[in-house]
Amino acid sequence: MFGVYNNPDASVLTYYGLHALQHRGQEAAGIVSCEQNQNGDKSKFNIHKDLGLVLSVFSDDKILTDDLKGTSAIGHTRYSTTGSGDNRNNIQPFKVNYKDGNLALSHNGNLTNTKFLRNKLQNEGTIFQTTTDSELILHLIAKSKESDVVNKLLDAFSQVVGAYSICILTDDKLFAIRDPHGVRPFCFGKVDDSYVFSSETCALDIINADYIREVNPGEIIMIDREVVETGIEKSFQASTVDKYKHCIFEYIYFSRPDSTVFGEKVDKVRRTIGKNLAIESPAPVREPEDTKKIGIINVPDSSNTATLGYFNEMVKHNKDVKHEIGLIRSHYVGRTFIQPGKDKRKMKVKTKFNTVKGVIKDRKLVVVDDSIVRGTTSKLLVDLIKKADPKEIHLKITSPPIVSPCYYGMDFPTAEELIANQHDSNVEGIREELGVTSLSYLSTEKLLESVPYSNPKTDFCTACFTKNYPIQIEGLEEMKKEQFDD
Ligand code: SF4
Repeated sequence: MFGVYNNPDASVLTYYGLHALQHRGQEAAGIVSCEQNQNGDKSKFNIHKDLGLVLSVFSDDKILTDDLKGTSAIGHTRYSTTGSGDNRNNIQPFKVNYKDGNLALSHNGNLTNTKFLRNKLQNEGTIFQTTTDSELILHLIAKSKESDVVNKLLDAFSQVVGAYSICILTDDKLFAIRDPHGVRPFCFGKVDDSYVFSSETCALDIINADYIREVNPGEIIMIDREVVETGIEKSFQASTVDKYKHCIFEYIYFSRPDSTVFGEKVDKVRRTIGKNLAIESPAPVREPEDTKKIGIINVPDSSNTATLGYFNEMVKHNKDVKHEIGLIRSHYVGRTFIQPGKDKRKMKVKTKFNTVKGVIKDRKLVVVDDSIVRGTTSKLLVDLIKKADPKEIHLKITSPPIVSPCYYGMDFPTAEELIANQHDSNVEGIREELGVTSLSYLSTEKLLESVPYSNPKTDFCTACFTKNYPIQIEGLEEMKKEQFDD
């Protein structure tokens, strides 16, 4: 998600921002811009969105320069967590025209009272254009009986439960809204006189914007002409909680290591995660018959940083290890576990990696990876590495076993599809299925030790590892029954 206010090149900046956020969603991309007439008393919303990567959706320059004119814009890259990924209607941003003017919305996260809201709105006569949770928010705003837009937002968000970082564009304002638990990241920056909101700071860097701060959990930030002229932020606290529940998986895998997320540098946290994995499960010892040092290799790109942390810790303990680039990744295919559909995933893995044979052959290898979801990717990767003839493969995972789905915006499969559940969390069973010499996961305790608690309210969601869901999920007990009692 990305949003810009007060810039003659708003859609171009949004395009670059989406580029930097491509890793957060690869199914579809879109931009809505707001164009004022010469007197500045009327505005028009322009939209362009399609299935595909940012580069292909906006392959024609004219889309940005001629079609998406305007001084404010919001954008979105999508990967589906609710609603079908192939349905074009589900591509964001969504744009509507209601009695008070135009409204457009980009949403990262997942609402957890969708059924209740959908039934309520349907009973009131609402007709839906998409199958997403995000559309519900637009209807709640449009239907609110409050008089001004801020109160409409406060009213709408008082009815919504779940994880959401949201940009809303109106005819003359840009809003950033974040759920009270701050599950997904959301930051705020400035370039010259323009205000920028983004899921991650790497998208501020690409347009040379300065990072101001996080959008606080439960906060609504409003940018309008007055804010631009005075430089004084307008902020409203919609709701508060005792403890935030940031998604810990953002640090393990999802966010880019060059971003600052939840107020902390991802690179630093990820290195600590790698270091703690090394403390819990060190590399094997080099025996006299081992002709080569133990090779520590990363699975590019998501485990690069954690592998450095792991390797540095091993060196500190005088282990006879060498950090090697043993896997080469082709950058022209997407990251794997967020590709919907299993067959597509197999194809992606085959086209994504190749081995550096000379590095791997006859060597004891430590392979550091961030997570194992279904196991399909890991199994294919292990088979690929084996073809290069290593002596042993020790697979080290920088997260605990994933045992439960995510209802807050990460596209994990059902509980039955998770490899850890297929083996009742028996690591030996998983090791055998993957065909590696040894398999180790980082413990939840050590993971929680690896992340910083700089704010007294900071805490983390770990539900996909622990099944402790911190935010109410409608129908969870029934879902658990279906998933775990079968
Ligand atoms: S369940 Fe897992 S992926 Fe989902 S928000 Fe919690 S920690 Fe993140």
